[in-house]
Amino acid sequence: MNGRKSECEGSTEAVPDALPDSFAGARLAMVNEQLRKRGISSERVLNAMLTVPRHEFVPAEFRDQAYADKPLPIAESQTISQPYMVAAMTQALELSGNERVLEIGAGSGYQAAVLSVLAREVISVECHTNLALSAQERLADLGYANVHVHNGDGSAGFPDAAPYDAILVTAAAPAIPVALVNQLREGGALVIPVGRPEVQELMQARKENGELKSRALFDCQFVPLLGRYGWSRESWQEDLRQPGRRSLRKRF
Ligand code: SAH
Repeated sequence: MNGRKSECEGSTEAVPDALPDSFAGARLAMVNEQLRKRGISSERVLNAMLTVPRHEFVPAEFRDQAYADKPLPIAESQTISQPYMVAAMTQALELSGNERVLEIGAGSGYQAAVLSVLAREVISVECHTNLALSAQERLADLGYANVHVHNGDGSAGFPDAAPYDAILVTAAAPAIPVALVNQLREGGALVIPVGRPEVQELMQARKENGELKSRALFDCQFVPLLGRYGWSRESWQEDLRQPGRRSLRKRF
């Protein structure tokens, strides 16, 4: 870890064949109790979450809570999302296996690992240099070879590798950044939490005839999407102090 300035300012019950690690029981309980019973119905998503070792993505001091029904702190005051949220967002992308997926907000790399099991290639952008480096290293060590983490401001997407078949934003945006729509392939899916600091709506969208058709799935609460087309730290903090004072502050 270093103090370098980041770029942010800009069915059937699943039963595994074997128990490959000491957390396998906790992982199976997570899948059945937190995901399946709450309506996650995609067997592909459930199986992916049964295989990815979430405990490898949380800080050592939280490892015993890795499969608990809540988000957990990671470095840089960020969070690894609650398992249900990861499952719901992943399911909403409706991946069939051959997609190239863009994730904005790599964080620990856990969501990227889940996506990598379900798609051909995952490109994930993270604005905190330390998080980007550690996520890339962790994913490589664990053998997720089809994930590439880039350090930078992902609020404008990652044009170098566009277009994408699916885009997932794992931080709260003030509105859907038009750059992400432009980088989405026709027919592609976009899932993104949009709204104010105190509450957002998880939006599921598809690009049809060049236009985005979107619907709100449910309310949620994420850390801010910072950067050029996200929130500034100041406006996020100010909005938190004065909720309901005004409508969305768009920065673009
Ligand atoms: N998907 C992550 C959790 C994401 S938390 C996981 O599975 O662990 C949201 C992440 O978005 C944080 O790591 C935060 O640093 C990052 N983020 C916020 N604004 C960003 C931006 N403009 N570009 C890239 N990453 C951003």
